[in-house]
Amino acid sequence: MTSTEHIPAKIRHPLRLRRIEVAEIIPLSSTMQRIVFKGDDLHDFVTAGTDDHVKLFFPQPGSDELILPEIGADRSAVHDPRVIARDYTPRRFDEEQRELIIDFVLHEEGPATRWAAQARKGQILGMGGPKASHIVPDTLTRHLLIGDDTALPAIARTLETLPPNHRAVVLLDTRETEKSYPLFSHAWMEVHRCQKGGDETLHALLRHVVLPATDKLHVWIAAEISVVRTLRDHLVNEEAVPRAQIRAAGYWRRGDDDDTLADVN
Ligand SMILES: Cc1cc2nc3c(=O)[nH]c(=O)nc-3n(C[C@H](O)[C@H](O)[C@H](O)COP(=O)(O)OP(=O)(O)OC[C@H]3O[C@@H](n4cnc5c(N)ncnc54)[C@H](O)[C@@H]3O)c2cc1C
Repeated sequence: MTSTEHIPAKIRHPLRLRRIEVAEIIPLSSTMQRIVFKGDDLHDFVTAGTDDHVKLFFPQPGSDELILPEIGADRSAVHDPRVIARDYTPRRFDEEQRELIIDFVLHEEGPATRWAAQARKGQILGMGGPKASHIVPDTLTRHLLIGDDTALPAIARTLETLPPNHRAVVLLDTRETEKSYPLFSHAWMEVHRCQKGGDETLHALLRHVVLPATDKLHVWIAAEISVVRTLRDHLVNEEAVPRAQIRAAGYWRRGDDDDTLADVN
């Protein structure tokens, strides 16, 4: 049973559609493109949770014309086949400068990845959200953060906010390295990476690493959805981690141009 002082809070935000403009493109590696966006529309942008996500709206391939969705009474976008939307994590937001950083994984194929690879200064994207933020209470002082490249922005944000008396164990299966995507924390931090070349999976890594005690533990997992399910099931069934202490989300789906957050809890 999870005590109420350990239950994460959910804050809802007013839903706004914004136009954001590419101000700078910073290649972090051949597979990760950092894009700095600016724009007056960011004057009231709020990102309160370290794993917040926004919906980015991309133009149709070969066009710069932006097609934004209509927002229905239930705060979701009304389906329109012309709208191309994908979820991304606000990596950093500078309120004063009205600058928002988003880190795009460049993978093989997809409108978002294609757009990020060709991004040019002055181009405009649409953005909705974040709709809500998930705030983990300070009473949870142990953290197990697991993810692939798409999870790096949220993991980096989380680590940066942890105070010195917290402990974080991080398991990564990424193409990015400590050099291309450095992680920083004031907390005690231990980072384990899947061995490349040996095809080590996150599941194998999870079985080998000494995990933090479940008391005051918060687990966060994001990666390809079937990987996330396997990791979540392992933690619940083999390590007896209470489900309520795990936040697990499929950030993408193999073989599918999926544009919705898949919460696997
Ligand atoms: C809450 C949330 C936050 C996210 N934050 C980020 C973020 O900050 N940065 C980021 O880069 N991504 C992030 N993602 C993941 C991103 O939304 C997906 O990877 C998305 O599918 C990319 O869209 P696309 O148009 O490039 O490819 P799609 O059109 O969606 O997919 C095309 C093909 O590529 C495959 N594919 C999709 N993503 C990947 C991948 N990462 N690696 C390999 N193959 C893939 C699909 O299986 C499909 O076969 C986040 C997802 C969620 C749900």
